Amino acid sequence: MEISLRSLTTRTAVSTASCVALSAVLTMNSASVAHADYFSGGMPNRSFKIQAVAVNSTWMNHLRNATNNWNSAGVGASIKYNVPSKSTFTAGPYFRSWYGLYTGYDSRGPKRYFEITVNSKKLSEDAGSKLSAWSLSTSTHEIGHALSLSDNPKTTKASLMKHSRDRAKIQKPQAYDKAEVTRIYK
Ligand SMILES: [Zn+2]
Repeated sequence: MEISLRSLTTRTAVSTASCVALSAVLTMNSASVAHADYFSGGMPNRSFKIQAVAVNSTWMNHLRNATNNWNSAGVGASIKYNVPSKSTFTAGPYFRSWYGLYTGYDSRGPKRYFEITVNSKKLSEDAGSKLSAWSLSTSTHEIGHALSLSDNPKTTKASLMKHSRDRAKIQKPQAYDKAEVTRIYK
């Protein structure tokens, strides 16, 4: 999930939604939590497909670039986008405080799939002239959840997964993020 720093007053509701999704996953994977920065809602391996649903050409470009950001990161990711898959990516204007939302379904195994939803409304409200960069940063961040990275890792190093990052400057996985994906799937 990506929450807006401007929406701290509504964070309780957002966190609740996030916790509900996470606890559903944890119930099925209670033995697999190994590290503070590990997100059990991710995919069981680094090769998966994402189907774009109801996205325009602008968002298809963001999905393509976000996918390429991971495939070219040297972490063993092999992600195909815009192909038939139960895992989906969509973008649209939602009256919500989050920029992006990731939900993992079913147990962490062959049946696991996810939905990524990106909030074009909130992004355009907060990004100003940096909308394209922010949109790519959020899209790449959400795919980071599919690669089992959690929000706000406990590190002082730069991370794509921090809500406090400068979205105008950080669109790609950082050294810390790459090391974590490699560690998790080793
Ligand atoms: Zn997130």
